Amino acid sequence: MDKYVVFGNPISHSKSPLIHGLLAEQTDQKIEYTYIEADVNGFTKAVLEFRKNGGKGCNVTSPFKDEAYNLADHKTEGALLAEAANTLIFNDDGTISAETTDGAGFLLDLKNNNAPLTNKRILLIGAGGAARGVIKPLLDTKPELLSICNRTVSKAEQLAQRFTEFGNINAVSAADLEKLTQPYDLIINSTSASLHGELPPVPVNIFNKCEFVYDMAYSNEPTIFINWAKEQGVKQAIDGLGMLVGQAAESFEIWRNVKTNIPPILDAVRKTL
Ligand code: NDP
Repeated sequence: MDKYVVFGNPISHSKSPLIHGLLAEQTDQKIEYTYIEADVNGFTKAVLEFRKNGGKGCNVTSPFKDEAYNLADHKTEGALLAEAANTLIFNDDGTISAETTDGAGFLLDLKNNNAPLTNKRILLIGAGGAARGVIKPLLDTKPELLSICNRTVSKAEQLAQRFTEFGNINAVSAADLEKLTQPYDLIINSTSASLHGELPPVPVNIFNKCEFVYDMAYSNEPTIFINWAKEQGVKQAIDGLGMLVGQAAESFEIWRNVKTNIPPILDAVRKTL
């Protein structure tokens, strides 16, 4: 049976084994998918050992996405732009290919939920690894403007600079947002603030006339950011579980070369939260 794993630290909470088990059942693929908690200094060794033991590929999550990217011999355009990888493919010739499926999974979830994208104004809060992975896919939908706002403003500025050739993108500070005159149609929280029960430092007026909010974090209850947005009258606010299932499905399709159907998997995973 072909073997896959997800590497992370910590990782025992991961939903990936469950999701990949459901994807395998749905597509009638005979695979084994588990998790490995690699030592924080032992990622490369753990990956190579897994491959030696017959592994076909792996997912990679925090804090190893940068190392996974560096380990690979071949990198897709998405991985090169994100400078990170969440999916490794062990090729028959002994090389390793890196891909990042976070952006594709995220876009799929936005589209499944009819989020406003093309010709719309988008605000992306956060400038970490998750933000890096979704900027190019967001710009590919041709928004009117993609603004990035981050607690550490310089990181937002660097990202805006780096992706400027792909569309209309700028960096904004919280002070800029206070003076906002044109509303955003879609606001995305890609910070890890929700995981700590905190709100990112952005002014409440960003929600004026905004109809769609996405928080990449997820839990069994609406996140603090989603609750805040709804209190301000935002009609649609969704969490990142669909993105999680979407990126898993993208990895699975790359490894197994089969099509998957996400909605029933998402329903099943939601019930386990
Ligand atoms: P990183 O550590 O790379 O980046 C964290 C980001 O959050 C930075 O922009 C950081 O700002 C900001 N931040 C952290 N704490 C706060 C706070 N208290 N207030 C304001 N900003 C804060 O993490 P990732 O980008 O990898 O992950 C971010 C989030 O996205 C997490 O919640 C993660 O679970 C989620 N995620 C979800 C996925 C999914 O499939 N649903 C996939 C990947 C990530 P600064 O630069 O100033 O430090």
